[in-house]
Amino acid sequence: MNILLLGGGGREHALAWKLAQSPRCTALFAAPGNPGIAAHATLVDLDLADHAGVIAFCRAQSVDLVVVGPEAPLVDGIADSLRAAGLAVFGPGAAAAQLEGSKGFTKDLCREADIPTARYVRCESAEAALAALADFTIPVVVKADGLAAGKGVIIATTRAEADAAIRDMFDGGFGASGAQVVIEEYMEGEEASFFALTDGKDVLAFGSAQDHKRVGEGDTGPNTGGMGAYSPASVLTPALEEQVMARIIRPTVEALAARGTPYSGVLFAGLMLTAQGPKLIEYNCRFGDPECQVLMMRLESDLPDLLLAVAQGHLAGRAVPAMAADVALTVVMAAAGYPGTPEKGAPISLPDAGGDAMIFHAGTALRNGQLVASGGRVLNVTARAPSVTQAREAVYALVDRVDFPGGFCRRDIGWREAAREAA
Ligand code: ATP
Repeated sequence: MNILLLGGGGREHALAWKLAQSPRCTALFAAPGNPGIAAHATLVDLDLADHAGVIAFCRAQSVDLVVVGPEAPLVDGIADSLRAAGLAVFGPGAAAAQLEGSKGFTKDLCREADIPTARYVRCESAEAALAALADFTIPVVVKADGLAAGKGVIIATTRAEADAAIRDMFDGGFGASGAQVVIEEYMEGEEASFFALTDGKDVLAFGSAQDHKRVGEGDTGPNTGGMGAYSPASVLTPALEEQVMARIIRPTVEALAARGTPYSGVLFAGLMLTAQGPKLIEYNCRFGDPECQVLMMRLESDLPDLLLAVAQGHLAGRAVPAMAADVALTVVMAAAGYPGTPEKGAPISLPDAGGDAMIFHAGTALRNGQLVASGGRVLNVTARAPSVTQAREAVYALVDRVDFPGGFCRRDIGWREAAREAA
């Protein structure tokens, strides 16, 4: 199978690493890729906004499967263009990718399909939003409707803060993403991420993880794209996972199919485990980054085979993908200044990770043969072990051997689970 992987972050390095291990993978191309991905794939220079160019490349290289890593090209409709050209593609079309592209779209779908989520109103003007606020208690959550890289969500702890967030969003503080605003009831609980593969009809659970969004230890400081993760998230017990499949995932897949816009790809549910059961916070239309890294470390089934079955609509009758009983944990090493303005260009020297560990490249580049930091989140130091406590020991021992001046990481990834294991 000839495969083209689109994207160039840590998530795509983990996918490339796993895809390349399969005996079914005959050629792997990545666009744009990164220096870590280059160890497993041939990097190609394709403009992801030029769908005709991507199609021409696939035809020239007899590509059997295109795997789309990030959300932006999916929301932009790349999967539709590739499918229309007769190519097998892993990732939803633009209509179904609205699950991530528009928070209001997802909330309306939840209402229609009776999916548990926070009570909300969708507002198209500052006046309407300010008036709607009166129906909510504090804290209240104010969200810009469109994609805002995790920064379009304000948890307001006073009415003045909620007012200011609404005015800022309608004043263009979040660009076009803030043209509509969703106001939501605040949900209490522990968060977990759940992943499912679907071809639009059948659905397979693909495991759970817990992310750490805040930049600082103890979950403090500004939000980031994610500073670390582990899988599985034991708070999401098998019984709760079954509830999530029955009350959240399957009704979503059915509702989208009934609308004539079936969802094909990985459905990533951000969940709040409340006293009333799991509730949906948000959907993403692709693997999480860094959650993908820990899922790939645990996956035992053949990845190209699974992704092709999703792309071709052949999931019926398949067994749930096999995951190692081991825990996997990843720690993000970021460049100084992240999540503000990260310092780029610091030289990096990597140790040999050894057996049950991997250092995935998230934001690196080669300058005159020297590996350097080129983004905010730079490396994902990842290990597998029988427990979170052991996995984090292995990860931090490896972190200490990475030579990356100016790089930093949180030292407490997996803290909730480590505390549960110690109890
Ligand atoms: P991401 O970076 O994951 O794409 P996003 O910008 O799409 O984030 P959400 O996931 O909807 O936004 O919200 C970001 C975070 O805000 C959540 O992970 C959660 O911690 C918090 N949050 C969002 N909605 C609620 C809610 N209704 N109640 C409590 N916390 C919430």
